Amino acid sequence: MADPERTYHVNGELCPASEATVSVRDRGFMYGDAIFETLRAYGGDIFRWDEHAERLHNSAARLELEHGLSSATLRDRIDETLTANSLDDAYVKCSITRGVQPGKLTPDPVTDPTVVIQVAPLPRGGISGTQPWEGPATLQTVKTRRISDTAIPSNAKTHNYLNGILARLELRPTDADEAIMRDQEGNLAEGSTGNLFFVRDDSLCTPSLSGPVLPGITRSVVLELAAAEGIPTRVDAFDIDDLHRASEAFVTNSTWEIRPVDTADGIAIGSGPVTALLRRLFSKLVEEECYR
Ligand code: PMP
Repeated sequence: MADPERTYHVNGELCPASEATVSVRDRGFMYGDAIFETLRAYGGDIFRWDEHAERLHNSAARLELEHGLSSATLRDRIDETLTANSLDDAYVKCSITRGVQPGKLTPDPVTDPTVVIQVAPLPRGGISGTQPWEGPATLQTVKTRRISDTAIPSNAKTHNYLNGILARLELRPTDADEAIMRDQEGNLAEGSTGNLFFVRDDSLCTPSLSGPVLPGITRSVVLELAAAEGIPTRVDAFDIDDLHRASEAFVTNSTWEIRPVDTADGIAIGSGPVTALLRRLFSKLVEEECYR
């Protein structure tokens, strides 16, 4: 249940989290017909806002969900929500649905989107920060394949998370906490809520966006840091053996940042110098961009 102490933002108004509701006829509820961004606030500032705003814009364009809200308006609502909660370091989720419409499945042009902003406290990030995860990730490759880009565009971040949920359900009998999905051809794709990186033969490897992989903002920052540091990088198609033989691995998302991987399919991988260096560089970047 939502923390009753929190304040959320629903359709332009701040309201207590316990009273934040949307209609049962909302298309986001009925069909997952919605887009969202998960962002991280550090020191009251949103990390890489422009990139998140651009991805949200692309998601909306891909779904032809013309919500009519400018990035500046959305950012104002996010800032208002953080202020109302006196939160500087936070998880922020901004969702936009196609709203309530008279017809059934066929969407009408959007006249009244539902716009919700939820926040929750997170520890301080940056150089003196604490990671929000309890320990390294334990990965398990699952049978559920990543849905093809030709079925649901992988560069659109939508409320349709059944693919990731089915993958996570497969973890129930295991002690793993993140599922790794492959594409239809068997190439590594990504986790249920994060991108995958590993180190092999001194190269930092990550599945290419030509596969069904969400273009993670954290992924792009990691690639940017690796390039600036001269770390050899391979963005390519990989198979499960590549991960099993890796000397280091980590998963990334906006909340976790860079989370080291302990084991994959029971095979010990662990952290190492490349992961440690990238984590330091990431924290330094957050410090410079958000806590100045
Ligand atoms: N892949 C999936 C399927 C995700 O849900 C997420 C989290 N939004 C990511 C990757 C990582 O994206 P980001 O770094 O932008 O949080």
